[in-house]
Amino acid sequence: MTFEELESKIMSLGDLDRVEPFLAGFSTLGQEIHGFHIGSYDGKQILIEGGIHAREYPATLVVCGIVEYLSSQEFRGGIYVIPLMNPDGARLVLDGADWIPCQKLREYINLVNDGSEDFSQWKADILAVDLNVNFDALWGGGSQNVFCPAPGNFVGFYPESEREVRELTRISYQIMPDLTLSFHTKGEVIYYGFETLSPEQIERDRLIAEKIAQINGYIPIKTENSTGGYSDWVSEYLEVPAFTIEIGPVSAPTPVPIEYVPDAIERNKNVPIECLNILEQNEQM
Ligand SMILES: [Zn+2]
Repeated sequence: MTFEELESKIMSLGDLDRVEPFLAGFSTLGQEIHGFHIGSYDGKQILIEGGIHAREYPATLVVCGIVEYLSSQEFRGGIYVIPLMNPDGARLVLDGADWIPCQKLREYINLVNDGSEDFSQWKADILAVDLNVNFDALWGGGSQNVFCPAPGNFVGFYPESEREVRELTRISYQIMPDLTLSFHTKGEVIYYGFETLSPEQIERDRLIAEKIAQINGYIPIKTENSTGGYSDWVSEYLEVPAFTIEIGPVSAPTPVPIEYVPDAIERNKNVPIECLNILEQNEQM
């Protein structure tokens, strides 16, 4: 798959019934970050993001499949979707470095990649910062964090140094979602329960994670030793339920081959509507 094919798949979502496109922001290199809203702007709203890790673009394809399904469903409330939070990184994985419009940046990226032109394992953005450890949520405290530019796990020189991270926090404050879902690869697990939450909030999220597990068959796991991620940030600053869903079996190679995408769509397509139903029921309790 090329980046052009991935992006045209994302853009085609805007042609679906009941799906309204919006501009979610811009990447470091000025590429558009596409957003979509499905359903009503009244009632509970959830926010879905995918593709924040470059090599995890199959999660973007899963999110696209979920949007296609949701556009034909009736439900209360609304769903905001940002399928590809890291377009620069995904383009590097899919197309290599030749498109980067500046020779010194190409050389820098090649240097960080140990001289290899194979970027298939790249997780970071185009400045070699891992966006999902750059959020200001116990930043720099994760067990796998690294502190120099790298293909993955570099936290940045300070929290929210990266444009994509600031765009996502800005749009989250605008939307003020009642729940968020972040799609990653891989392992077929659902992470919940960031450590800044109260015991009551962790129990709230554990119960929702178990209901999600009943739909997609994945395993709920309380997050440990992981900081600076979007779900962590949502937990700390918005204090609403936030889940990281890892599609694709642990036995799959990395990047997860796109053959796994249809099964992951099938398993997860009803998760957003179920989350809206849970939020409505909790309101009535
Ligand atoms: Zn990831």
